[in-house]
Amino acid sequence: MTIVPARVTPRGSDDRRLPSPDGGERPVLEVKRVTKVYPGEPPVRALRDVSFSVARGELVGIVGPSGSGKTTLLQLMGTLDRPSAGSVRITGLDVARLPDRELAALRATKIGFVFQQFFLAEHQSALDNVADGLLYAGIPQVERRARALDALGLVGLEERPHARPNQLSGGQRQRVAIARALVGSPAIVFADEPTGNLDQATGRAILGLFEDLHVLGVTVVVITHDRDIAARLGRHIEMLDGQIVFDSAEPFGDSAVRTQGDVAQDEATRL
Ligand code: ADP
Ligand code: MG
Repeated sequence: MTIVPARVTPRGSDDRRLPSPDGGERPVLEVKRVTKVYPGEPPVRALRDVSFSVARGELVGIVGPSGSGKTTLLQLMGTLDRPSAGSVRITGLDVARLPDRELAALRATKIGFVFQQFFLAEHQSALDNVADGLLYAGIPQVERRARALDALGLVGLEERPHARPNQLSGGQRQRVAIARALVGSPAIVFADEPTGNLDQATGRAILGLFEDLHVLGVTVVVITHDRDIAARLGRHIEMLDGQIVFDSAEPFGDSAVRTQGDVAQDEATRL
């Protein structure tokens, strides 16, 4: 496994974490009774009364079929969109109550994103793609590059810092994107179908990387439609039709007793 370089602190640089009301450490992410309705004729209820939280250092898989609301949930958790009802808190901060500027700062400094399509700048080296993850942190370029090199080390790419994305394989590109997500030492990393564009073996290797990062203390939420992938993770949450139907952290909780039949029945009674 890769050694953690001193300049990259995967446990998060935020030492002003808010205590929770019960005196313990507050979860990194708290989703409370979140509903999301997309306007239209008819409106789409993409999420219905979703609640869960993620503690610091957890590796969580969210699994569900296409259309079950995974990407919608990721956008709300990642502060890219706001819920129609309910609340999302990141490191204790209520996303809906933050002014736009503070929200942008929160997103830039506390959250790392990894997407299926990598979203790398093709004309820039791996190093500069990763260093760009620090553009909003007000860090001089020399320091940005030094930190980027450390982050490339975390994903096993320290030997190819000057390669451009088109000189790298799909798996290597995704590693660059993961390094970019990590470089600012965010409190939490969200990955939406990170293995969706990769063959199975490469996808497994990327998942192994998330497991290594988890051992180092990084907090990661991985969204996937692949049940095998989710089942390998320490904690997995299953979604169906905009709701959580199972959470392995609460196997006997509210969601555990809900079956696909219950959801179908809800659907029928809601109309
Ligand atoms: P998943 O990522 O699990 O495939 P999504 O969150 O993308 O699910 O979609 C959940 C539901 O919300 C689907 O019915 C989808 O068609 C709908 N949806 C997603 N985004 C929008 C949008 N921008 N406008 C209207 N409906 C949307
Ligand atoms: Mg999706």
